[in-house]
Amino acid sequence: MSTAAAYGVSSPDGSFEKITIERRDVAPHDVLIDIAYVGICHSDIHTARNEWGGSRYPCVPGHEITGVVAAVGTAVTKHRVGDRVGVGCMVDSCGECPPCRAGEEQHCTKGATMTYNGAVDSSVQPGGNTLGGYSTHVVVTENFVVRIPDEMGLDAAAPLLCAGITLYSPLRFWGAGPGKQVAIIGMGGLGHVGVKIAAAMGADVTVLSRSLSKQDDGKAFGASGYYATSDRETFRELRGRFDLMLNTVSANLPLDYYLRLLKMNGSLVILGLPEKPLTVSPFSLTGGRHSLAGSAIGGIAETQEMLDFCAEHKIGPEIELISADAIDDAYGRVVASDVRYRFVIDVSTM
Ligand code: NAP
Ligand code: ZN
Repeated sequence: MSTAAAYGVSSPDGSFEKITIERRDVAPHDVLIDIAYVGICHSDIHTARNEWGGSRYPCVPGHEITGVVAAVGTAVTKHRVGDRVGVGCMVDSCGECPPCRAGEEQHCTKGATMTYNGAVDSSVQPGGNTLGGYSTHVVVTENFVVRIPDEMGLDAAAPLLCAGITLYSPLRFWGAGPGKQVAIIGMGGLGHVGVKIAAAMGADVTVLSRSLSKQDDGKAFGASGYYATSDRETFRELRGRFDLMLNTVSANLPLDYYLRLLKMNGSLVILGLPEKPLTVSPFSLTGGRHSLAGSAIGGIAETQEMLDFCAEHKIGPEIELISADAIDDAYGRVVASDVRYRFVIDVSTM
């Protein structure tokens, strides 16, 4: 057992405090990572504040982790001491079920072990509740550790481990590319990376944001169109326009209005995870043979593929680095959509 400094909350309405946590010993297939940076995802906020229910405390969020390998177990073959690596939303899965065998560990039928707020044996994480990357060190089984391409900074790479793969995977699955009209709904942490990746894939990208305040950024990220959803005219003008719409919004939207913007056979994919159920009229799906689908992060191999794709296309998230004592303030600013476009904690400030 070793100890690490971490930032966590002890209740849904608590402030972040510096605490000391324990990490397990490095087992034969484990990698010990010195964490350098960790992104702040809106899911961290949903969990720390128990907005989805089921949060366990103390809660140490953080699943956009980058750092350097400090030690490896005796049987590790994939990583070496000194390697630049990343860890995303998952730290383990059964490895045997059909989704795991297909490289879709996020859909493990037994439930993947999430990087934080996951129930585990105390031999995996002392205390029985996984603790995430708002900490100086983490021990992870080698198969759930990915390689950060040399040309990427560890700071800007961090948000790719969740935001990047969450957009890359559905863009690939639903065939975004030349000739495809893709809409990204909400241009926050997830959405802005989605614009860049979809444009790099060759799709024609349109942003649907509440206002036009971020229009110049959206165009610079690669969008050809940018519309305000606060303007009713948007929903008239864009009717029947899109092959694929990715909804990254953290709040409930009137989905029937958005579904009308799909072409025949088009798909609207839910990525954002508001706490309340969604409501949809069946007529919005039957007319136009529309699909309403969802997608969760992506598998480990696909996460590596996404990192290599971003390196090749020289794209990455726009980040604002903060020190660990500014997490509460950053949460307030994310909720107020006052972030351009992802906060990343400099873990050396812990
Ligand atoms: P974020 O940075 O806060 O971005 C969310 C965006 O949604 C905002 O920038 C804003 O875009 C829009 N928005 C926020 N409140 C809204 C409201 N009341 N009405 C309309 N639009 C609103 O959050 P994020 O980190 O990108 O995460 C977004 C959501 O995805 C969260 O619910 C998170 O838990 C979820 N998530 C899901 C997965 C997955 O695997 N499916 C992975 C990671 C995160 P505009 O300002 O452009 O309107
Ligand atoms: Zn996330």
